[in-house]
Amino acid sequence: MHDDRTLVESRLKRVLDERIRPAVYPESVPLEVGIWTAPGEPVPVAEGLAAPRTPIAVGDAWGAPWGTSWITVTGTVPEAWAGRTVEALIDLGFDANMPGFQCEGLVYRPDGSPVKGLNPQNQWVRIAAPAAGGEQVLLHVEAASNPVILDYHPFLPTELGDRETAGDRPQYKLARMDLAVFDETVWQLVMDLEVLGELMAELPVEGPRRWEILRAVERCLDAIDLQDVNSTAAAARSRLEGVLAAPAVPSAHRISAIGHAHIDSAWLWPLRETVRKVARTTANMTALLEDEPEFRYTMSQAQQFAWIKEHRPEVYARVRKAVAEGRFVPAGGMWVESDTNMPSSEAMARQFVHGKRFFLDEFGVENHEAWLPDTFGFTGGLPQIIRNAGSKWLLTQKISWSQVNRFPHHTFLWEGIDGTRIFTHFPPVDTYNCSMKGSEIAHAARNFKDKGVARHSLAPTGWGDGGGGTTREMVAKAARMKDLEGSATVRWENPAEFFAKAEAEYPNPPVWVGELYLELHRATLTSQARTKQGNRRSENLLREAELWCATATLRTGAAYPYEQLDRIWKTVLLHQFHDILPGSSIAWVHREAEATYAALAGELEGLIGAAQRALAGAAAGGRELVFNAAPHTRSTVPAGGAAAVAVPGGVCEAVERSEGGFTLRNGLLEVVVDADGLITSVVEPATGRETVAPGSRANLLQLHPDFPNMWDAWDVDQFYRNTVTDLTGTDSLTASSSPAGASVRITRSFGSSTVVQTLTLPAGEQRLDIDTEVDWHETEKFLKAAFPLDVHTERYAAETQFGHLHRPTHTNTSWDAAKFEACNHRFVHLEEPGWGVALVTASTYGHDVTRTVRAEDGGTTTTVRFSLLRAPRFPDPKTDQGLHRFRHALVPGAAIGDAVREGYRIGLPERTVTGSAERVAPLVELDNDALVVSAVKLADDRSGDLVVRVYEAGGGRARGRLTTSFPLAGAVPCDLLERPWDGTRGEVAFEDGAVRLALRPFELVTLRLRVSA
Ligand SMILES: [Zn+2]
Repeated sequence: MHDDRTLVESRLKRVLDERIRPAVYPESVPLEVGIWTAPGEPVPVAEGLAAPRTPIAVGDAWGAPWGTSWITVTGTVPEAWAGRTVEALIDLGFDANMPGFQCEGLVYRPDGSPVKGLNPQNQWVRIAAPAAGGEQVLLHVEAASNPVILDYHPFLPTELGDRETAGDRPQYKLARMDLAVFDETVWQLVMDLEVLGELMAELPVEGPRRWEILRAVERCLDAIDLQDVNSTAAAARSRLEGVLAAPAVPSAHRISAIGHAHIDSAWLWPLRETVRKVARTTANMTALLEDEPEFRYTMSQAQQFAWIKEHRPEVYARVRKAVAEGRFVPAGGMWVESDTNMPSSEAMARQFVHGKRFFLDEFGVENHEAWLPDTFGFTGGLPQIIRNAGSKWLLTQKISWSQVNRFPHHTFLWEGIDGTRIFTHFPPVDTYNCSMKGSEIAHAARNFKDKGVARHSLAPTGWGDGGGGTTREMVAKAARMKDLEGSATVRWENPAEFFAKAEAEYPNPPVWVGELYLELHRATLTSQARTKQGNRRSENLLREAELWCATATLRTGAAYPYEQLDRIWKTVLLHQFHDILPGSSIAWVHREAEATYAALAGELEGLIGAAQRALAGAAAGGRELVFNAAPHTRSTVPAGGAAAVAVPGGVCEAVERSEGGFTLRNGLLEVVVDADGLITSVVEPATGRETVAPGSRANLLQLHPDFPNMWDAWDVDQFYRNTVTDLTGTDSLTASSSPAGASVRITRSFGSSTVVQTLTLPAGEQRLDIDTEVDWHETEKFLKAAFPLDVHTERYAAETQFGHLHRPTHTNTSWDAAKFEACNHRFVHLEEPGWGVALVTASTYGHDVTRTVRAEDGGTTTTVRFSLLRAPRFPDPKTDQGLHRFRHALVPGAAIGDAVREGYRIGLPERTVTGSAERVAPLVELDNDALVVSAVKLADDRSGDLVVRVYEAGGGRARGRLTTSFPLAGAVPCDLLERPWDGTRGEVAFEDGAVRLALRPFELVTLRLRVSA
């Protein structure tokens, strides 16, 4: 037979595009349209409905950036359409693609009840089926003229990302505004042909199935009268019945589809717009659930449910009903889909506490999967947190974005730093926005790495990022692929149904140990430094506030601020969303985040101050009490307590050197700063051990050009290192000393920026503090602070949640080389047997570690560089411009325990309060420094119980006794939600009024302590 395959395929494309799709709406009449534009920010629905409209016509421009217009459409269904299905078609001026990245609308009835959302892939509103004819149509659309930031010219700087700079030029032109007849038979024919056409394109040309479909399609097209598609569509469809009925082969890959809209809680839009995005998408999804009995939908992020509850209660009522039916599934159990690299131990835990508790309180639902499709990498601390939250599965697809290495599994056990293993699935469809295209389904089946031992994968299905969700077309296509020869099978299933099946069929999955590092978006550890600082400051202040408020409540009976702490935690958790904390949002988001963090700091300082004053007693005639919120004793102040301390004194000196520069001494360290203000030597007099690599200079600021190929705020590409400028010029160099310490102050200028650094050796401490103040006015540059260390080691430790993980200092493999920028929390630590050094940071996260071998003496120089600032221009064209302050410290001779201690110290400065009390005894004390208290708080159930979270911080086994300064009636190990839990694997024993603990490396345990009445 002659090969006419491409001819028929081309025929299918043209007839679908030009004749069949246009015939879905064969008749239409125009709607009357009126508009009112709100003068500023969005207005309440009642106000929008009541405002006077002015006429507007199709083709007219509307919509300044970030504006809200209320558009009213009116019309009458023609009598001749009686018995037909009628829909309104509302095209606000959509571009064909990218729902959620442009204008959007929410349709309301005249009584203010929401109907559904409008986006480029969802422009219809059902009016009647069947119509009686003569119906009056009156609908209102709350239309958001959100500007396009990303689509047309990706990554070009734009002022549109903030209402303050976006101007008022209209962004859109009204397009089709019609009442139309919807021909369901033609629409079904389109679905048949799309599914078969797309499947056919994926099948092997050598195989018979492709040809059977081709011939059936040809017979179908032959049956269509191109001048009268509507009356011939049914006959055409009948010619496809045979090929659509052929069942899938028994070994077909099985896809669990779940309706989804990945909605970024802020990104290329501000938080307030996400509140509305969620309402639009959710209104659509609850409507689709009503129309499609087999469809299932899942939504993550408790915060988004809370927004609907507060702002669109009618939509929330529909959500509640669908959740009760088990068809609208809350997923993930987190407050938001947060970043996981940067949130502290406690914050990561609280993401799950507040997320799961919201779902439990609102719906009585506890889900067991962590749902993080789009988060930029996953720390080795996360598995234990997931397990301690009462969950057991993880879903993400993001690692498929890695630039270099292909991850070897799609379904596997992921083992964290403490040994906890979590059953993990990466959907092989490689997207969280599956649209049921044949190419996606075939890719999932082909791509699945666990073929032969497993058959199931999951496909989150629906428009995402900016919302949109699943469409009726996706549901129709899934129905055809339920059991279709040549295709993977597709079933709508809840995440838990999928995970249960996947786990059952794969009893011995492969294991991946350690972090799931994303080989992309590495600069999100540095971009928008003020947002990151606000996060770290809030985390530290929350620790202090919980500790001192709990102490004040137990000691003085002061009221514990449950509601205030709950609200503040949720605000901090929201800002850990994976485009806010990582610094990848528009300027508006980061400007607001900075203001929000400042307000939270004020509130938390107020709580801390009030609690400490209550504990210190009357100030008049009192003495100075020093409060220590850190988990380790400081001089004479116990961890979690307060005491009077003598001002530390010592012989601290700063001596000018004849060759320029200064030598600082405090008896524990001798630091040489040269004439350029750089550190050439740091020696412990007691041992003579030098920290700085010979021939190198430490605290060297280095400036790189930084213009990645894509994703400016997100990415730093490896070639940035090819060019570097060492900032060695000084404007001034001065030194000073006092009994409290010796310091050197260096000022430099470069480009359009200036930097002032103060290096301080505090009295009595084996530590060099480094304070850096940068007035940053660079463009597309990366600023690093380098510390070349005389340390020979193949690996270093970086702090993460509830412990640390190791990374190589070399680039042996492509996996090692790809980690050229990585995350630490408060420290990195390097050691040779018997001697180590820690570098500690108050608010930065990005760093790199490299090694060289010196020609002169054969020794190894291991260089740690902290990443300080970047200056990308997309999506915020002025990222990080202005004044920044950083604090770092160099701790020579530090064991891992010292690194942990100094990490806490740098973020938790002592506070001095005047009062009558002699001292404030800590509520709890531990007799082993390896056991670190992560949180002290009152139980969220308001029972008055004290909750204490402890973890083993050194990576070894640790035994210890936890004693309390109050009579202890009992101690119960709990999960993170403070529910009694027998999953703790170490020993926890309540005996003799104290708690005996024996924890495994990095194990965390949450204790609920009952206070004796
Ligand atoms: Zn996202």
